[in-house]
Amino acid sequence: MPASSPKKILVVEDEKDIQQLIKLYLEKEGFRVLTAATGPECLVLVAQDKPDLIVLDLMLPDMDGLEVCKRIRAAPETAIVPIIMLTAKAEESDTVIGLELGADDYVTKPFSPKTLTARIKALFRRLDRIQATGTTHYRYGPLTMDLERHEVRLGQEEVMLTAKEFGLLEHLIRHPGRVLTRDVLLNAVWGYDYYGTTRTVDVHIRRLKQKLPILEDAIISVKSLGYKLKEPTDGP
Ligand code: CA
Repeated sequence: MPASSPKKILVVEDEKDIQQLIKLYLEKEGFRVLTAATGPECLVLVAQDKPDLIVLDLMLPDMDGLEVCKRIRAAPETAIVPIIMLTAKAEESDTVIGLELGADDYVTKPFSPKTLTARIKALFRRLDRIQATGTTHYRYGPLTMDLERHEVRLGQEEVMLTAKEFGLLEHLIRHPGRVLTRDVLLNAVWGYDYYGTTRTVDVHIRRLKQKLPILEDAIISVKSLGYKLKEPTDGP
């Protein structure tokens, strides 16, 4: 995306005062802002308008933010859109679940619009950096991946992977810290017309871990959802 086109942010909050305050502030910072007050409304806008980032309040009247987050992550076309959750202090356990379900960050209420904006900018910077660091070479600890030469190395040693194992690793390493559902991985690696089951993904993840032991703890299974490769800063 050219630097000149403003990033589009979807703000999901049922409390109109807060929603409008965030909207005004973000617009002042040069972002384009869409708003939604309910979960279903959010899901429609996410599919229609493809926002670059979502600010999602946890407390929504009809469908809570966790469910909304889960559904956004489950749909292949929206699986990797960045999400910042708004939570109250008392909802700390929900925050943990939210991060597990694939929220990228969270801001605790009450917050200043300035704090939220700073977190949004930091997240965009982090994502731009991931995209900018060579589209053909990836490094994860001692593991390197060369997409052009179709090579995976652990230190100096080349590790032979099958095409599907390679595809799976590529998808995980391109999206560190994100929960990728089995359906998303299946579609990305095997294609939409593949008739296998999501069990196929589990089997290949297991093989990948056998061949690359450093992934044993780095690829986390997220209960009933899918898999996540820990961010390189968290390990391995
Ligand atoms: Ca709310």
